[in-house]
Amino acid sequence: MVKSPEEMQPLLASKNIENMFFKKHLRNFKSELIDQSIHSLNQHISPQIDCTTCANCCTKLEPGLEENEIVTLAHIKQIEPITFKQQFVAFDGEALFLKTKPCMFLNSCKCSIYDSRPNACAGYPHLDAKDMKYKRSLWSNYTVCPIVFNVIEALKLELNFTYGS
Ligand code: SF4
Ligand code: SF4
Repeated sequence: MVKSPEEMQPLLASKNIENMFFKKHLRNFKSELIDQSIHSLNQHISPQIDCTTCANCCTKLEPGLEENEIVTLAHIKQIEPITFKQQFVAFDGEALFLKTKPCMFLNSCKCSIYDSRPNACAGYPHLDAKDMKYKRSLWSNYTVCPIVFNVIEALKLELNFTYGS
């Protein structure tokens, strides 16, 4: 039974130490095997989570942007790309990102520009990548996204991980 966004939130604090041990447990398995399990659990769990009742990613994160996506978003806002960039985009030393939090395009838990949303949004929570067990973002996303939370919790069962009594 998957946990909803509301059910997941109060459990997070109690998972900190357990997850430290689980990260160590993951060292016993080949990266390819972990990827296979995560990809397959993602396929199974994603359809069971209703993103339109969550929107945690649109509320708590700042999506990365490519230059062409800035042009698209500026066009939607009917302003010049340079103006959009000055007002709504920041650079963290590596990448450009949309700095409005919650996202300026979020409307009642739904993306108002769904068909034109940036790739970083469309691909979130990025559970289909390779070498998932080495990705630090997996653990930051665990605290934000119920899909990631449920996939990791299911992975613990699949890998016979036990913690506590
Ligand atoms: S552009 Fe849409 S999907 Fe992306 S963060 Fe904003 S509201 Fe969410
Ligand atoms: S992708 Fe994850 S964080 Fe974003 S709305 Fe869906 S369940 Fe929530």
